[in-house]
Amino acid sequence: MTLRCDGCRLCCKLLDVAELPTKPHLGWCHHACKQGCAIYDSRPKSCQDYECLWLQSQTKPQPLSPDLRPDRIGVIFDATADGKGIVAHGDRDRLQRRIVQDFLSRLRSQGVTTIEASGDHYRCAKLGRGQTGTHVTLTSPVGEEVIPVQRR
Ligand code: SF4
Ligand code: SF4
Repeated sequence: MTLRCDGCRLCCKLLDVAELPTKPHLGWCHHACKQGCAIYDSRPKSCQDYECLWLQSQTKPQPLSPDLRPDRIGVIFDATADGKGIVAHGDRDRLQRRIVQDFLSRLRSQGVTTIEASGDHYRCAKLGRGQTGTHVTLTSPVGEEVIPVQRR
């Protein structure tokens, strides 16, 4: 979460933070507050470094729409490590919303692998459904890739 997030702080709920082992899994960080983060200036490095796909896109020529801002849809989009896939984090109902499914479908039509991660379950465009702790293993033409689905 950064000041550029413009009021969104969904990653402070949906994603685990390595430096905060007591943060509830899929629950609000105890430092989250109405203004954002109560320890903003000294927040963990992984919080400082993290930028979801929506936030990254805001400085690109074709930014993702404000309607796809994570706190508006309840879903966070992240790129996979190789940059060829997209992970959507959220609960099952939110992942099923039309705006989310339309976006994922558009990506798939462009050849992008999509993974829907809900709690410890995932649904991947290539792998089908499954269950995972923190990682999905995706086998692609270039080999096996381990994709973190709950990370920061
Ligand atoms: S989910 Fe993205 S836009 Fe929202 S607070 Fe986190 S980094 Fe910022
Ligand atoms: S420390 Fe701050 S930025 Fe990091 S998860 Fe908690 S509330 Fe969010």
